[in-house]
Amino acid sequence: MSPSADLSVESLQRSVAQLERLVHLSVTLNSTLDPDRLLAFIIQTAAEVLDCEAASILLYDEMRGELFFTSATGTDQRKLAEIPVPLEGSIAGTIFRENRPLVINDVASDPRHYAQVGEQIRFQPRSLLGVPMCIREKVTGVLEALNKRNGCFDDNDIQTLSVIASQAAVAIHNARLVQALQRAYDELSRLDKLKSDFLAIASHELRTPLGVILGYATFLQEEAQGEISEHASAVLASALRMRGIVEAMTNLNLLQMMTLKLNLQAVAIQQILQSVCDELSPTARAKGQQLSLHAPPTPIMVRADVEKISQAFTNLLNNAIRFTPGEGETTLTVSVVHNEVWVEIKDSGIGIPKSELENIFKEFYQVEDHMVRRYGGLGVGLSIAKGLVELHGGRIWAESEGPGKGSTFTVVLPVQA
Ligand code: ADP
Repeated sequence: MSPSADLSVESLQRSVAQLERLVHLSVTLNSTLDPDRLLAFIIQTAAEVLDCEAASILLYDEMRGELFFTSATGTDQRKLAEIPVPLEGSIAGTIFRENRPLVINDVASDPRHYAQVGEQIRFQPRSLLGVPMCIREKVTGVLEALNKRNGCFDDNDIQTLSVIASQAAVAIHNARLVQALQRAYDELSRLDKLKSDFLAIASHELRTPLGVILGYATFLQEEAQGEISEHASAVLASALRMRGIVEAMTNLNLLQMMTLKLNLQAVAIQQILQSVCDELSPTARAKGQQLSLHAPPTPIMVRADVEKISQAFTNLLNNAIRFTPGEGETTLTVSVVHNEVWVEIKDSGIGIPKSELENIFKEFYQVEDHMVRRYGGLGVGLSIAKGLVELHGGRIWAESEGPGKGSTFTVVLPVQA
């Protein structure tokens, strides 16, 4: 084999090895989300592939308008991270501003050389190749390879480092996005816990004074005469409403923490629905509304906590009456489909926009802007109903043809064999 053939085989082998490193880099970049590991891997690969003593990444800090070392091989990272590199009067700054690669084979004599860094970390660059790192045309930093071991940086090195830089820029960007998302998620979880703690404390602290008010108001209503008794009735009615709100807050919290315990028993769904209807009939009548229950005569047995599942149906029925202005009607229809009982609660009220049909089951969500508040409410009735139904192994959903066209809520529960 001739010497020139030998040479080309050797350079071909080198290219293949380099390509293999680049493919490996690409795979690792796509599967690593820890920014520190990612940066370390990029510079290590850059130094190895280009056969250099060191490599470093400088990222642009928009707030301060300067470049900062984010990672470098073989140096004290913390010390390096504290050294800002100005955009003017530095080689990295020039690469960043001009958005093009730069090869300098005698760094010490280059007027743009920012000597402070080398002095502080005791590393003197002799030769340097730097390329910009871009995300969608925007320069985000600079990748540098320093002190090539054999010879000078050539066009092939520029090409190779540019490929590494473009992949690295995207990977760093993604890793930072994931990090920001994780931080936002952690913050949300913290706020959610604060809200749950507040609900738990507030409902607990309200319960004791409320008990006293209820006790005295009941006593006064029974014992006093005339006007005083009427006032006591008004206090009692308001205190009972408040107790309902406190109970809703407690239930919501227990459901969220998944600590709500069910006292299950076999019961006919008709019996539960009839007593909920009996309880709410006076409210419907007071608004001139009709409330009717259509169910098969044969008892349909479900395994349920009577109090809790009644609460779910009470919330739905209360809404049906509340969100039906003036006269109107609410119909409950019970049927058995396979091994399930379907309870449809259909009202002729204000209806629900299609885009909101899923949102309304989220806690504190109300279609109406809370600044208007024509219908009042805490915004938790449906999320409690959903939680309770699901705890019974059932499901719930809402349908509506849109605003002004009424709503239908369907609750499905397993039938007990
Ligand atoms: P609240 O009734 O206290 O606001 P809910 O969780 O019970 O809270 O209901 C959430 C929202 O869903 C209500 O504010 C209302 O916008 C909408 N909604 C619930 N039930 C009905 C209904 N039957 N008709 C129209 N809108 C309803």
